[in-house]
Amino acid sequence: VHVIAHRGASGYLPEHSLVAKALAHGQGADFLEQDVVATRDGALIVCHDTWLDAVTDVAVRFPGRARADGRNYAIDFTLAEVRTLRLLERVRPETGDQRFPGRFGRTDGAFGIPTFAEELRFIAGLNRTTGRRVGVYPEIKDPGWHRAHGIELAGRVLAELAEHWPGDGGAFVQCFDGGELRRLAESRPPWPLVQLVDGSAGAGAAAALVAGSAAYAQVVGLDLRLLLCDSGPALVASARAAGLGVHAWTARKDALPPGFPSLDALLDALAGPLAVDGIFTDFPDLAVAWRAGR
Ligand code: CA
Repeated sequence: VHVIAHRGASGYLPEHSLVAKALAHGQGADFLEQDVVATRDGALIVCHDTWLDAVTDVAVRFPGRARADGRNYAIDFTLAEVRTLRLLERVRPETGDQRFPGRFGRTDGAFGIPTFAEELRFIAGLNRTTGRRVGVYPEIKDPGWHRAHGIELAGRVLAELAEHWPGDGGAFVQCFDGGELRRLAESRPPWPLVQLVDGSAGAGAAAALVAGSAAYAQVVGLDLRLLLCDSGPALVASARAAGLGVHAWTARKDALPPGFPSLDALLDALAGPLAVDGIFTDFPDLAVAWRAGR
């Protein structure tokens, strides 16, 4: 089973910092995830949200730049401006409290948001110096929203992968937007496409999306909520029957689903009865140790 470092070793260091990627690489992850969004001047950066408030000091550094909803969006800032931001441990924007209170200190360390190209070269460099062959796993974030702002994000992500990723560790390209993946598949990209499926839409909608995705994707990335509910085994079986791989997101030792006493117990359930091929985790070291002990 692939161990996929969710936003890097984000259980230990701020998500999507390059040091979190380096730690995950050293901890033995097989793939390192990138969430990709665009800036106003069209640079691709690695950030989970299309807005910057939950993981940076943007509101303090650039007062008055928020939209009506109170958020500061990456697409409203130039790359030069983004480079001045301090990347911080994630907070809940409503309260300012850390999303995961036991994790890296909000004010510890000094990190910045990397560009997608910088990160690809960084990981390629680590692969060269360590001799490991770790892959990348970029997500095209909200392509419809980017298109509405004049940026064809999916095409740009594939172009930067082609330019900056030597490919020795492989890559998966993921997106929630099935229509976007369907269009991407028409250009026959060299990397497998992953249809992400969120649990909030319900089991019926998830089953329909999984069934339809075999026409353009090679893998489905399933929310734990879908895998661990009563219909989870049937959903995995239908994906298998359609020839799809199954990756699960996200295993966290500090946010375990109900009924699981430990991360190992969760990983056992995912890899045992459900037999997934890949697991996203914030704690790659623990998943690698668990895998070694199976
Ligand atoms: Ca993601």
